[in-house]
Order: sequence, then C-alpha cells, then structure tokens
Amino acid sequence: MIIEIIVIRKCFSIAVLYSILLMFLAACSPKNRSIDAQGEFVMGTYCRIDLFEDGSPALYNKLFTRLEELEKIFSANRDDSELAGVNRNAGIEAVEISAELFTVLERALYFAEATDGAFDPTIGPLVKLWGIGTEYARIPPDMEIAAALALVNWKELELTAGIKEDLPIAGTAFLKKKGMALDLGAIAKGYAADDLVSILKEAGIKRAVINLGGNVYVWGKKDNGKPWNVGVQDPAAERGNYLGILELERSISVVSSGMYERFFTGDDGKHYHHILELTENGRGKRGYPAENGILSATVIAVSSMDADALSTSCFVLGYSRGMALALANGAEIVYIEEKEIRGSPGAMSIFTLTSH
Ligand code: AMP
Ligand code: MG
Repeated sequence: MIIEIIVIRKCFSIAVLYSILLMFLAACSPKNRSIDAQGEFVMGTYCRIDLFEDGSPALYNKLFTRLEELEKIFSANRDDSELAGVNRNAGIEAVEISAELFTVLERALYFAEATDGAFDPTIGPLVKLWGIGTEYARIPPDMEIAAALALVNWKELELTAGIKEDLPIAGTAFLKKKGMALDLGAIAKGYAADDLVSILKEAGIKRAVINLGGNVYVWGKKDNGKPWNVGVQDPAAERGNYLGILELERSISVVSSGMYERFFTGDDGKHYHHILELTENGRGKRGYPAENGILSATVIAVSSMDADALSTSCFVLGYSRGMALALANGAEIVYIEEKEIRGSPGAMSIFTLTSH
C-alpha cells in the first residue's frame, strides 16, 4: 500500500514536471517567447528596438525586415534604391515612385518651403561632395561647392500625384536638372520610426522603445507607470553621455540633430559636421556646415518624420526662427548652444539637466 502511494506520488510529480516543461516550451515557442531588445545596422545607422514583454522573435524579425525594405527605398548610398532611380533620371524623365517615397518627398517639400530652402531634400550633390561620415571626407574647393549648390533647389523637384490607379505607385518624381540628386538623410529615419510604430499598433504591443540612430520613439506606458526617460546627448562628450533627461508621459518621438553626430576634423583643425548651410542663417558660409552657435537641436513631436525634419531644419535656422517653426508645427524643442541650454516652455518643463 505504502509502495503504491509512493508510486502514485511519483507519477503525479512526473506529470506535473512534464506539464510545467510543456508550458515552458510553449512560452519559448517562436510565437510567444519574449526576448531581449534587438539591434541591427540598417538605414546607415545602428537601430535598436525593445519590445519588452511582447518581444517575440517573429515580431522583431518583421520590424527589422521592414527597416531593410525602407533602406531599399530611401538610401542615397545604394545604387539599387528607389531613390537612386529618381537621381539617375535627373534631367531625363519623371520616375514612378512608391507611396512611401511620395509621402516623404511631399513632407520634405513642405519643410523646404517652410524654411525658405534651409532644409532641402535635393541637397544630394553637396552631401556627396563633402563626404562627411565617409573615408573621403574633405573640405571641397569653393568652385566645387558653387557647382554643387547650383544643383540644389527643391523648387526643381516636381512631384505629381497618382497617375496610374491600377499600379502600386503614388505618383512620379522628377528632378529637372541633370546632376541633381535627392538625399533624405534628414527625414527618412523619422518616417521609418513612424512606420514601425504603425506595426506595433497593429500587433497590439503594450510598450516599446525604438531607437534608429538617435531617432527615438517611446511607445505606450512603462510597466511601473513612470514616465519614459530619454537622454539628450552631451555634444561635448562621448556618445552615450547625457547632458539632460526628457521625461515623457505618452507615446511620442524625440529626435536630435547635432554637430557631434557625423563630422571630421579638417587640415585647418576645424570641426566640420554634416548639417549643411544652404541659405544665410548663421556666421558660416553657404554650402558649408552650419555655424550658428547651435550644438544640437532636439525636437519632440508625435510624428517622428516631422521631428526628424524639424530637428535638422531648426539646427540650421538657429534659435529664433527654429523655435517659431517647431511651435508652428506642434512640436517642442530643446537647443543646446555654445553658451546656454534653452527651449520651448513645454520642452523645458520636462527637461532635467543631469551634468554640467
Ligand atoms: P539629421 O541627422 O536628421 O539632422 O540629418 C542630417 C543629414 O541630412 C545629413 O547627413 C545629410 O544627409 C542631410 N542634410 C544635411 N544638411 C541638410 C539640409 N540643410 N537640408 C536637408 N538635409 C540635409
Ligand atoms: Mg533630421
């Protein structure tokens, strides 16, 4: 009798163990297992996504696959991108484009107009000439800068909406002069962050942090109910060292443009960064990196595409015009300047300085 009880107990405990093991395996199946944040080098930068408890390999895979697709649309550095097709046909003919490219170009033209051309998606020839962030970065001769500037003009980008209803195209894009070239480095990552957020919404994800090389989106609420903390890079320190923290209560994007992001030191010992002056906004020269005392501009907005375009625009425009532009577009902004940190009241009320 005693033996029987022991045997039954043993069977019972094996059954319990077995079912616990099954539950564990089910939780670990590709569909349900929550895994740590994932990162990948894509869209020309290191992209990191954290889905917290909803982080299944399948969903991470879907998000990074989407980023790879977007790179194939927007990259100015790949010959096989959709954007490269428009550039190759500059001065030749209009090219049918996807809804994604159409949407970003349309918004880029909106900001080009709003900034009187300080932000310009046709900046390609000038970006290529400087090569900032590449091994061939150098200070170009004035004549070459003048020649590149002659090819930068958003008014000569012709966008025509939906011409073939039965095709998956949104319209056409035409660069009117030979040698013109689009570069959407100042706005495409923002579009990508918004696109990933739409996937998260569809998948019913509770919380997530998307960071596409400093283009951040905080989605949902933290599990402890506290605000998200997003660090604002210290322009004078190594990457990852924050000057301050923004506390965010809701789903929103934070995007910084800074002179510390991509740059080289010229033979003259000067710091040459990647945000270029196309008009006459500061003390710098047209066609040169913007020089107006701004070290970084951090924009907070619900649309990451707008935050991205605005951060670059507000950097070049400088404090007064940039502030007006950000506020007119429903965004908040923090400027880090050579001598001070200031911003819109809404942004400064959630900003805490952490190092001085
Ligand atoms: P971001 O880091 O978003 O400020 O974007 C900077 C990138 O945008 C550069 O690396 C260039 O590819 C491009 N860019 C630089 N200056 C401008 C400008 N004035 N207008 C539009 N795009 C720019
Ligand atoms: Mg930008």
